[in-house]
Amino acid sequence: MNHYKLLTPGPLTTTRTVKEEMLFDRCTWDQDYKQITQKIRAQLLQLAFASQQEYTTVLMQGSGTFAVESVMSTAISVKDKVLIVTNGAYGERIVKMAQYLGLNHLEYRVDYNQYPNEDELRKILDKDPQITHMVMVHCETTTGILNPLDMISRLSKEYGKTLIIDAMSSFGGIEINVSALGIDYLISSANKCIQGVPGFGFVIANIDKLSACKGNSHSLSLDLYDQWKEMDKEGKWRYTSPTHVVAAFSKAIDELVEEGGISARFARYQNNNRLLRERLEEIGFHTYISSEQQSPIISTFLFPNEKFSFADFYSYVKEKGYVIYPGKLTDADTFRIGNIGEIYEEDIHELCNIIEEYMGVVAK
Ligand SMILES: *Cc1c(COP(=O)(O)O)cnc(C)c1O
Repeated sequence: MNHYKLLTPGPLTTTRTVKEEMLFDRCTWDQDYKQITQKIRAQLLQLAFASQQEYTTVLMQGSGTFAVESVMSTAISVKDKVLIVTNGAYGERIVKMAQYLGLNHLEYRVDYNQYPNEDELRKILDKDPQITHMVMVHCETTTGILNPLDMISRLSKEYGKTLIIDAMSSFGGIEINVSALGIDYLISSANKCIQGVPGFGFVIANIDKLSACKGNSHSLSLDLYDQWKEMDKEGKWRYTSPTHVVAAFSKAIDELVEEGGISARFARYQNNNRLLRERLEEIGFHTYISSEQQSPIISTFLFPNEKFSFADFYSYVKEKGYVIYPGKLTDADTFRIGNIGEIYEEDIHELCNIIEEYMGVVAK
């Protein structure tokens, strides 16, 4: 099999040194191992501009969805009602979760290429004082739209609601001041912009809010409160932790800090994204999301013409060393290209050269 680089929304291309951390088998019970967990928890708070007095980090086994479900099942009690803002598949997944969990919920849905509207949200909040929580996806990975965090945070403060943000594909790649924004639960995972490998998610939680959630969860393994209480003692996970993944993640955070922190990584990703969109536009590919609403994480491109075959295009590009992603829209033929992970300007140029060649030779 040929090796390739991932231009996907995660798991993504990681460094050799991150992968090498996984060559040693660690004991979950061992003090050194538990210290890695504690180190990660503290570093994540720093990256989120969240103080140790106000916030805590809870790590949760599983993919990112498990972490989102642990927040939804733990933070929202039977007496609460949650407003879920959606403009993509990840928001809709949260609605599905609310249905499965039997939560009292309301969906505010807008088109996939639109921002949620502040006036409409105000109307909903004015009309329904039962609402206690608000949820929004920051970067909707379905399309690559970057949702307005400032607006939702302002509203949640003004109306006194608990704010849950799925920042899965943005945290680590875009600076988010959790404390200043008053986010109560921020969710992300190991295999996105921190550039670790898949295996767990994490939640940066407001301590006062989480403290009030004892007994809410109807799931044992996804109980975020219980997980926090156990982990907070001395870094021991409830149940088996993904030891290799945790070690790799610790290294990945160190490498993020060495790169210059989130602002430096943001600059690299943004440059990758700008270059990608500019060059593909020249080749004849238009983006689905307008440039003002575009995240520096992943982009959705419309098929350039009727004859275009994604399967053929995908194989051609993969053969030359890059893997891209299919689209996730029902109303338009699209594909996606991620520019996060251990990806640099040279990779984007190389990819665009391959695509140019494809369009010039094969697609003619
Ligand atoms: C990746 C991602 C998730 C989690 O997906 P998993 O496949 O469970 O890791 C959730 N929300 C968003 C916005 C994502 O990009």
